Amino acid sequence: MTAPLIDPFQRAISYLRVSVTDRCDFRCVYCMSENMTFLPKKELLTLEELDRMCSTFVALGVEKLRITGGEPLVRKGIMTFFNAMTRHLESGDLKELTLTTNGSQLERFADDLYAAGVRRVNISLDTLDEKKFADITRWGRLPQVIKGIDAAQRAGLRVKINTVALKGFNEDELFTLVEWCKSRDMDLTFIEVMPMGDIGNEDRLDQYWKLTDLRARLAENYTLEDLPERTGGPARYVKLEETEQKIGFITPLSHNFCESCNRVRLTCTGELYMCLGQEDMADLRAPLRNNPNSDAPLEEAIRAAIALKPKGHDFDYSRQSVDGRMSRHMSHTGG
Ligand code: SAM
Ligand code: SF4
Repeated sequence: MTAPLIDPFQRAISYLRVSVTDRCDFRCVYCMSENMTFLPKKELLTLEELDRMCSTFVALGVEKLRITGGEPLVRKGIMTFFNAMTRHLESGDLKELTLTTNGSQLERFADDLYAAGVRRVNISLDTLDEKKFADITRWGRLPQVIKGIDAAQRAGLRVKINTVALKGFNEDELFTLVEWCKSRDMDLTFIEVMPMGDIGNEDRLDQYWKLTDLRARLAENYTLEDLPERTGGPARYVKLEETEQKIGFITPLSHNFCESCNRVRLTCTGELYMCLGQEDMADLRAPLRNNPNSDAPLEEAIRAAIALKPKGHDFDYSRQSVDGRMSRHMSHTGG
């Protein structure tokens, strides 16, 4: 039996988030600038390398894989990778294979994802207003995403909507979004905007809508019951008693839940980030590429990296400036 991955703070690492591309068909204003320079193809892990990398993590005890990006469904041949991961679900080593997507390509991929063993998807959507949707995503079109959501539900995928809480942008849609999710039987999670990457002229502090404030607004119309559910991440959940809906809050800024963190993040170039909010990373591509016939050096590099997982991040808006800012974009590490 291989020893599981345990970090210096006795946290077992069972969850890997994998960014399979830094590219995207949207340009959300809080995530990317309009003119992004993307990585040259040779820098990216190939689909076979992604398979080897993820399979090694699974062999070391990772039980949950979340595929993200950039937009994971714009990566050419991505279903080959999903289909390759099915064997780990079938063996029982992997408990969940899932993805976070902007939904634009779901109409095309929903059935294939279900067939590969995916049962849940997170779909990012910040507004139900077509004009505002086009503004916030710059290149996205709402009807296409709605068609993607329809296809996902038809295919049998459980959908969770992820909404970035943006001051002055979707504050007025709080109840509309909640009711819309209820009507379609979808969970809903709000995310605080994080200081990731240079995004041009947008001002983070202007965008920041504290989730404690959002929660207080919600409590004006609903009775909120805290749920004990924990996923090892920064999300906390409540139940709206009137509708029995589950609402999540991802609050990396106003609260810090690093002590129970069970996850690490792999970029599309094979860098392993032990914490979303720290610059420390380990290159796993070299031990993978330099040793085509043995996974032992890669395993060793993974263990060495996990031994360096920091206690937590340093994001902080509390001093009215953005501290702990990360130079890399969310699409690089995978949100
Ligand atoms: N393209 C896919 C999508 O949009 O779902 C997957 C990648 S995206 C980087 C993952 C999540 O990160 C999305 O829910 C997005 O809203 C969120 N995100 C991007 N930039 C963010 C930021 N600066 N702060 C908080 N969340 C952010
Ligand atoms: Fe693309 Fe997702 Fe970033 Fe929007 S949040 S630009 S959809 S990667």
